[in-house]
Amino acid sequence: MDKTVEQLIEQLAREHVLPLEGYEYLVAHQSPEAAEVLATFAVRERHAHYGNRVFIRGLIEVSSYCRNDCYYCGLRASNRSCKRYRLSNEQILACVDKGYDLGFRTFVMQGGEDARFSEERVASLVRAIKEAYPDCAVTLSLGEYPRKTYAAWRAAGADRYLLRHETADPAYYAQIHPTDMSFERRMECLQWLSELGFAVGAGFMVGAPGQTSAHLAADLKFIERFKPEMCGIGPFVPHHATPYADRPAGTLAQTCYLLSIIRLIHPPVLLPATTALGTIEDGGREKGILAGANVVMPNLSPADTRAKYEIYDNKLATGVESAEGLAELDVRMHAIGYRIVVDRGDTCTTKETA
Ligand code: SAH
Repeated sequence: MDKTVEQLIEQLAREHVLPLEGYEYLVAHQSPEAAEVLATFAVRERHAHYGNRVFIRGLIEVSSYCRNDCYYCGLRASNRSCKRYRLSNEQILACVDKGYDLGFRTFVMQGGEDARFSEERVASLVRAIKEAYPDCAVTLSLGEYPRKTYAAWRAAGADRYLLRHETADPAYYAQIHPTDMSFERRMECLQWLSELGFAVGAGFMVGAPGQTSAHLAADLKFIERFKPEMCGIGPFVPHHATPYADRPAGTLAQTCYLLSIIRLIHPPVLLPATTALGTIEDGGREKGILAGANVVMPNLSPADTRAKYEIYDNKLATGVESAEGLAELDVRMHAIGYRIVVDRGDTCTTKETA
C-alpha cells in the first residue's frame, strides 16, 4: 500500500480529522488493501460504541409527488412517466402498527416535497404516532421547509430529521440541481434542524455524475465539522427517465471505503447500509455493515406502492429489504456476526468497551 495512504489512515484512526488534502488523497488512492485497513479500524470503533447491534428503521414512503426537479432523481417533477401516489393518514398509521408488531421502534416518514403534506398534517401524524407508541422515535425526511415548519414538527414530537446535504461543494451542487434549488438554503435547513434539537442526518450519493475526489473530500470535511448524528450515503444509481439515465452507477467498493472513513471521522455516527447498496449488488448491505455501518432501513410502505417510489431503477423493496423480511435479515446479520435489536437506536454517547 502507498506509504502516504497508510500514514493518513493511521492519522485518521488516531485523531479523527485530516486536512482537506488528506481526505482528497485518501479518496483518490483507494485500493483493496487500503479499504481493508480502513474497515478494520472502522469496525473496531463501531464495536466500541455499538457492539454487534444493528439498528433497524421502518421506512414509510409517504408520497412520490415532488415539486423539485433534481437531475438524478426519478421522482423529479418533470418525469411524466412516474406513477404518483400519496398515502392517507390511515395508511401511514397502519404501517406504524404493523411495524411496531414486527419490532420496529423507529419510524421514518420519507417523501418527495409534496404540498399536501402540510405543516399541520405532518404535525398531527407525528403526534398520533408518539401518542400510540411513546417508546418509539419518529424520523422525518420530507425535504426543505421553513424554520417555523420544522419547529412545529419538532414541537409535535419528531425526534430526528434526514436531509442529505447532497454535496458540500456549491458549484457541484449547482451542477446536479436546477437553478431554483440552492446550496445555501439546503445548508441553512440543516442548521435550523440542528438548532431545533433534531438528531440530524446529512449525507450524499457516491459516484454521482461529475463527482470528483475533491468533491468527496469536501463532503468528508463537512461531516467532520457538522458532526451529524446520522449520515446516509449510497451509490448513485441511474433512473431511466432522468437526464442521468445513461450514467454509470456508483460502486459498492467506493461506498464501503467512504463508510469506513466516515465511521473514523465521527465514531458514534449512525450509519445506514442503504437500500441503494443492497440494490447494486447482492450482499451489498452486509458489506456495508462490515465496513462500519450499523443501521438498516427496511421498507414498511404498503406493498402496492413500493414500486412507485422509484428514485432510481430496480430499487429493492422486497425480501430482506422489506419489513416482512426482518427474520431473514436477522439471519443474514447473524451470519456475519451481528444481530438486529428491538430498540430506538439513538446515538451512543458513551463507549461500551474501553
Ligand atoms: N425529498 C426528501 C427525500 C429524498 S429521497 C429530501 O429531499 O430529503 C432521499 C435521497 O435519495 C436523496 O437525498 C438522494 O441523495 C437519494 N437519491 C435520489 N436519487 C438517487 C439516485 N438516482 N441514486 C441514488 N440515490 C438517489
